[in-house]
Amino acid sequence: MPGSSAAKARANARLRRRYAERVAVGICTKCGKTPPDDGLKVCGRCAERRRDADRTRRARAKDRGKPYAGRDPVRCRRAGRAADRRRRQARRDAGLCTKCGRNPTDDGRSVCETCREAMRARERRRYAARIAAGLCVRCSEPAAGGLSRCARHAALEAERVEPERKSATSRKRYARRRAERRCVDCGIETAGAARCPACAYRSNSRAPDRYAAQAGPPFYTVIELETGVEHGTYETEAETAACLVFLGLRLDQVEIRSNMPLLALALAGVP
Ligand SMILES: [Zn+2]
Ligand SMILES: [Zn+2]
Ligand SMILES: [Zn+2]
Ligand SMILES: [Zn+2]
Repeated sequence: MPGSSAAKARANARLRRRYAERVAVGICTKCGKTPPDDGLKVCGRCAERRRDADRTRRARAKDRGKPYAGRDPVRCRRAGRAADRRRRQARRDAGLCTKCGRNPTDDGRSVCETCREAMRARERRRYAARIAAGLCVRCSEPAAGGLSRCARHAALEAERVEPERKSATSRKRYARRRAERRCVDCGIETAGAARCPACAYRSNSRAPDRYAAQAGPPFYTVIELETGVEHGTYETEAETAACLVFLGLRLDQVEIRSNMPLLALALAGVP
């Protein structure tokens, strides 16, 4: 109903005004009578009342087994995500690690070296735990007999290793073209990169090549074709995509070395 939503908007505006006025004159924003405690916006009595009400609500929610202390879970989750986003953005703007918010980051990275190392360590532990438990290292479903991948992931990754690589002649051709600084796919000259832009685009949006066979935690190394400059190694595809966006590089301008199939990268909004 437009009438009631307009009324609601007016009421909200009134409340906001009153709140601002009370802050300005230095009285409790809740009761408007007592001055607030140091550094707070409400007086001691109102704060105590608020805490009581919160306690009651939390206790009731706990009794009924409701999450988020009985608040609307959808709104809480949405607010949580928005807050995360704002915090990440603020940290990024300040040139700080988006994860810990303490350390500055190296050229264009979103996460500091300390946090990256912690992530890598966590990744390695997860990898080792899954291997030990006989689970797929990608998805933690049961792995196919003695392998490190479930049937689905084994098939997915095998499919993405180009079959021609398996033959010795093609391996030789690959090595020769690499040494001659030519595109390993079409043979035209490159600035030392493995592939020309066109072939790199095709390869990157389809599959990692020789690195697919490498076991271990996922890695994505971004190399600029034009300059041969390595723009870092990332642990996730999202981070890799963010790196490309940050550098303003298109998929056809880079070579991505990875031991993972690049599934989402081509779809993640990277042009
Ligand atoms: Zn008060
Ligand atoms: Zn950090
Ligand atoms: Zn799997
Ligand atoms: Zn080529």
